[in-house]
Amino acid sequence: MKEALARLDALMNRLVEADQTGAGIEPLRVANELGAIRQLLAESPTVIPAKGGQRHFRCESCGTVSHGAAAPARCPTCGGTKFFSADIEQPFVESGAG
Ligand SMILES: [Zn+2]
Repeated sequence: MKEALARLDALMNRLVEADQTGAGIEPLRVANELGAIRQLLAESPTVIPAKGGQRHFRCESCGTVSHGAAAPARCPTCGGTKFFSADIEQPFVESGAG
């Protein structure tokens, strides 16, 4: 999540810079970077695991988080069938520094 946000900030700065300097920016490079950021966000764990062993799964298409012992067959929101694990494995690692 942190890396995705950092890359998003960098991309926004580059776009602003391109506008201010009139240097321009290649749309395809922006698209590629956005695609990479999207993937990072889709994969990034964000949920502290629930007590009782329930896990959380994020729909790759729309981002809906479902909970249960295993990933649902279909996303309740969009019907998607691909899921990433959304559980944070070590919730207290980040200190916020950096
Ligand atoms: Zn979905």
